Amino acid sequence: MSELLTKEDKRTKYCGEFRESDIGQKVCVMGWVQRARDLGSLIFIDLRDRSGIVQLAFDENTPKDVFDRAFAVRSEFVLCAKGSVRMRSSVNDTIPTGKVEIAVDGLFVAIGHAPDNGIFSQLIDLDDGGYADSDESCRTKTPGVFVAGDCRKKTVRQLTTAAADGSAAALAACRYIDALEN
Ligand SMILES: Cc1cc2nc3c(=O)[nH]c(=O)nc-3n(C[C@H](O)[C@H](O)[C@H](O)COP(=O)(O)OP(=O)(O)OC[C@H]3O[C@@H](n4cnc5c(N)ncnc54)[C@H](O)[C@@H]3O)c2cc1C
Repeated sequence: MSELLTKEDKRTKYCGEFRESDIGQKVCVMGWVQRARDLGSLIFIDLRDRSGIVQLAFDENTPKDVFDRAFAVRSEFVLCAKGSVRMRSSVNDTIPTGKVEIAVDGLFVAIGHAPDNGIFSQLIDLDDGGYADSDESCRTKTPGVFVAGDCRKKTVRQLTTAAADGSAAALAACRYIDALEN
């Protein structure tokens, strides 16, 4: 069972301040995701704030709901994480916090992705993450229903791909209407 984050949870210290003297401490950190690495049964997230970076670690001892949440994290998400400071198994000498990591048992995603497609599930197919299935012209399984942007199943979710989807969906919608009229 994961540790719940509460209103009382405050940042213990800034990301770049953790050292070996903190090992064994229960801590709470907040920041932006610099990089998220998924190694299958292990996930490492570099969490950044103005002071530097600290590594968050998720492994077989991490509560499942926390591990699943970490699995969906991408760069520039904003997180609040609770856990215990421990020695890193592979030390990174290039950063001041490189000897330690935080084994996370509570994770709150303050800014991230959460597709809200459920209400359309009768009209469009959704994958396990709730993203909408469509073809390259953004057509769904229902004629006349198109999807565009981050809510759509795809590999890259950026402003450029969202805008491109919008164009593709609009053109496909025009063709659909033209075909109805002819
Ligand atoms: C933290 C973070 C950092 C990012 N940094 C970058 C970056 O540096 N460069 C980059 O290219 N991309 C970045 N992205 C990705 C980029 O923001 C998205 O790919 C892009 O905004 C997707 O556009 P969209 O129109 O699909 O969705 P959104 O921009 O999310 O717009 C969806 C809109 O729909 C509204 N909405 C949701 N549900 C409902 C409802 N039921 N009824 C009415 N309105 C609703 C929402 O309020 C929102 O305004 C970042 C994303 C995040 C989360």
